[in-house]
Amino acid sequence: MNYQLQCIECRALYDPDEIIYTCPSCGGLLEVIYDLSAIDFRKTDECRSVWKYKALLPVNIKPVTIREGGTPLYHIERLGEGMEVREIFVKHEGLNPTGSFKDRGMTVGVTKAIELGMKTVACASTGNTSASLATYAAKAGIPAVVLLPGGKVALGKIAQALIHGAKVLNIRGNFDEALRLVREVCDEYGFYLLNSINPFRLEGQKTIAFEIADELGWEVPDRVILPVGNAGNISAIYKGFKELKELGVTDAIPKMTGIQAEGSRPVVDAIDRGLAEIVPEANPETIATAIRIGDPVNAAKALRAIRESGGLAISVSDDEIISAQRDLASVEGIGVEPASATSVAGLRKLVAEGLIDADERIVCITTGNILKDPTEVVDVCAKPLEVDADIDAVRRAVFG
Ligand SMILES: *Cc1c(COP(=O)(O)O)cnc(C)c1O
Ligand SMILES: [Zn+2]
Repeated sequence: MNYQLQCIECRALYDPDEIIYTCPSCGGLLEVIYDLSAIDFRKTDECRSVWKYKALLPVNIKPVTIREGGTPLYHIERLGEGMEVREIFVKHEGLNPTGSFKDRGMTVGVTKAIELGMKTVACASTGNTSASLATYAAKAGIPAVVLLPGGKVALGKIAQALIHGAKVLNIRGNFDEALRLVREVCDEYGFYLLNSINPFRLEGQKTIAFEIADELGWEVPDRVILPVGNAGNISAIYKGFKELKELGVTDAIPKMTGIQAEGSRPVVDAIDRGLAEIVPEANPETIATAIRIGDPVNAAKALRAIRESGGLAISVSDDEIISAQRDLASVEGIGVEPASATSVAGLRKLVAEGLIDADERIVCITTGNILKDPTEVVDVCAKPLEVDADIDAVRRAVFG
């Protein structure tokens, strides 16, 4: 095997077959490292997908796949009018099989679970992780257990977890508490934990970076902007760009720019104040439930990604999120859930504050599909008109 697990803090190395999620010696986060000199990475015309880049993925068996990745990178023109930016792209991860980027992590994570001989998979989730895990566990033929913050998960996501057959537990508590509990349950019963603290899951998510570079002719954008919740995705995408550069495939790394909601912004605060670690937010609150996380487990990786790449971190209000969501949908035809719209809300704010150069080429990631959260969509839109089944009434309503 040409990869190992390494602690990002003390640099200790571990066998990738060990069932560990953090460093047994210092408690630091782990990442998968490769002997890049032994990797045969080819630029090919093959259709983009997670498994196109299998030379840089840490699995040796046939993947558990339902064809994830290969999402569109849209060049956005109308929404960018009036913004002093060279080019804006949106990579719509909401078009993955279960409607979020989590599928990239789960195809690799669940395959790894099978490779390691694990019998049950588990996660805590703000919704999309559970929808995705339930789906991939179904495909793999193994049981899934998911812990949700009761009452705070969007309807579409719960529906997915249920129909794909997971055991769904609504915890009377928030996401951070659900994650603490599922970690205990996994330790106790030997379930395989597939939250983003699992370094193999993040390997799947780094393929977002590969696809962006691939589609831009193996060039990288100046900046990538995305929502930050548990902070796994920003860390994974940064790692992907770093590997491409180390392989000599590309020659730069985009400025990784993370956006959080005003009511839940521990990473932004740590960047603003130059702190080495985040201070958890005990009561995170935002309409963007996918990033309603006060104690992001991957904070240490995310802070490095933002700082080493020369990126930024800012927060946006729920109103800014909702108007970005509406504009993406009504101006560009891109339907996203609230958390996803933070990338575009953040871009607007950064441009307004003069924090982005006019010659930048920017990619915003929209992380999840609009159909995930129908309740929110109906709440923020004008209600349908109630009209009698009568042609005059219809005429009046159409032109009224
Ligand atoms: C999971 C998720 C996020 C947050 O990603 P992290 O890796 O936890 O930072 C953002 N948006 C959506 C739609 C998600 O499902
Ligand atoms: Zn360590």
